[in-house]
Amino acid sequence: MLVETDLTDVPVVVLGAPGRTGAVTRRYRRAGARVTEVTSPAQLTEAVLREVRLGVVVDSPGPWPELTSLLRRQCLVVTEAGDSEPRGRVVLVGAGPGGRGMLTLAGAAALADADVVLADRLATVDVRALAPGAEILDVGKTPGHHAVPQRQIEALLVERARRGLTVVRLKGGDPYVFGRGGEEVAAAVAAGVPVTVVPGVTSAVSVPAAVGIPVTHRGLSHVFTVVSGHVPLEPERARALVGLGGTVVLLMAMHSLVQVTAALERAGMPARTPAAIVERGYTAEQASLTSTLGELAADAARAGIGSPAVVVVGEVVRQSAVWQQRVLPRLGGAA
Ligand code: SAH
Repeated sequence: MLVETDLTDVPVVVLGAPGRTGAVTRRYRRAGARVTEVTSPAQLTEAVLREVRLGVVVDSPGPWPELTSLLRRQCLVVTEAGDSEPRGRVVLVGAGPGGRGMLTLAGAAALADADVVLADRLATVDVRALAPGAEILDVGKTPGHHAVPQRQIEALLVERARRGLTVVRLKGGDPYVFGRGGEEVAAAVAAGVPVTVVPGVTSAVSVPAAVGIPVTHRGLSHVFTVVSGHVPLEPERARALVGLGGTVVLLMAMHSLVQVTAALERAGMPARTPAAIVERGYTAEQASLTSTLGELAADAARAGIGSPAVVVVGEVVRQSAVWQQRVLPRLGGAA
């Protein structure tokens, strides 16, 4: 929109060729305007002309210059560019680990353009504010509550896109990191629905950073491995992991913390290896602790640290002590 103004209930005519006016119409509707879409001359009736307070011509001069002149005699007319992207598509958006600051600009732009948003539990951004006017479907999993099954989510994505809507699938972190993004892309492709992916800031790297733990650090670790705690860590896999050296980052590991840490120890990782847990990074409820591999599960239980959390094991955890000692800028100016 060219002008920031309150368009609540203002009668607006959006004039343009069929298939070009969708995005502009949606934007004005979201701003509260009463939009009449005119994609053929017959739609610009006397009644509509009598009422109209603002005309929007898409791809000026538009397909019918004489209609534009008619509008000009009635009201203020502005011009806008038509749809640049095909409607009826799916956009997978990574929301990052939490909060608006961790969402990418591309992610925010995709949300602003969405007709429908299917949001995850871990996507903690304020979807309503970022996608005003969009239909919001909460398909997230809360432990103990039923989530919408994966196949049903995929069916919803395809069904809404086939109705000509821009569907954003908003996922915590990055869509492709333990996020089943690949399956959703495959479902869209199989249905012949255009699909794109906007990467997100993954919790695997960013959540350790929330407490000053770099996943790599010159001289300490030049490898980091991201592992799901969801599947049992078999002895052979644990040995391979420990053999690699470097940092081990575990997601979804809080329910199997005792088993996973024991498996790493049995595979030869010293019990004194520094380890940390960060729960709900970048949210108001962020909590963390540092410990050692041998003590981690017991310490977490004592501290009441739970899911969702990222577990980091490796020498890099010592860097969090550096972080603790950092000199913070004074708030509020003069000393
Ligand atoms: N696609 C996501 C990961 C999904 S798996 C990503 O790239 O981040 C879900 C796991 O991610 C959780 O069990 C937890 O281990 C981790 N996680 C996601 N967001 C988190 C956050 N804000 N704080 C701590 N852990 C988080």
